[in-house]
Amino acid sequence: MSWVEVGDRVFQRRYEPCDVTVSVVAGADGLALVDTRCSLAEARELREHLREISAAPVRWVVNTHIHFDHVWGNAEFVAPRQTPPAQVWGSAEMIAAMRGAARDPAAAEFKEYLAGQSEEWAAKLAELEEYVPDHEVRGAHDLDLGGGRVVSLRQVGRGHTDGDMILHVPDADVLLMGDLLEQSGAPAFGPDSYPLEWAPTLDAALTLSGPDTRFVPGHGDATDASFVRAQRDSIRAVADQCAALRAAGVPADKALAAGDWPYDPKHLEHAVARAYAQL
Ligand SMILES: [Zn+2]
Repeated sequence: MSWVEVGDRVFQRRYEPCDVTVSVVAGADGLALVDTRCSLAEARELREHLREISAAPVRWVVNTHIHFDHVWGNAEFVAPRQTPPAQVWGSAEMIAAMRGAARDPAAAEFKEYLAGQSEEWAAKLAELEEYVPDHEVRGAHDLDLGGGRVVSLRQVGRGHTDGDMILHVPDADVLLMGDLLEQSGAPAFGPDSYPLEWAPTLDAALTLSGPDTRFVPGHGDATDASFVRAQRDSIRAVADQCAALRAAGVPADKALAAGDWPYDPKHLEHAVARAYAQL
């Protein structure tokens, strides 16, 4: 795995663990880094790898959403580990949820579980410092990277979480989608997902695209609008199936066995629970 330039001075790279995709947009005034991997150790490696692209500093960090594989490297790019610090941007919803997670027993349990996976994870968790974004997006914000390059941070709807943010780089015709789009696996319907709203959110993202737009997923390689439309259709099928089963009086705990699903039903438990709760 190495950097791939998906558009003019827009790079993506896939990383283990979690096969998470990290992106970089290079501007005249510095680098904008999109998502930061699962730990400070991984973020230090990422910082080294950034030198393969440019010697310029990371001036901006943008988190596409709250999940740990996208945000636990944040603290590597602010003081005292980096001076001057980068601005760290996230949606208002994501920031509120990240603050709430600090007091959430389920989040603490998850960290304990991870730390128990291996010595490597234990070391990563021991030095974990969760850095909540210090710059908040409400709907939309334009980042000026210098030299005439503007990156548009946009919340076009809920889907994977309630605080999903995409980035539009119009001069390179690239959309960075976070986990609203997954290329290397099925889309992840977690306990914080919005299955009924996800397809319309992808439709809203598609309105920003043209025939040659490259879409960078949160996991996997860059892809195109036809892939996004196909994934949108499958996500819509999950939502429609939930609505039809509920209307037919099928209880939530029987829905996975009774339905006809575009994805492996064993990964759709939360999708059904969340859709039923919303319906
Ligand atoms: Zn995620």
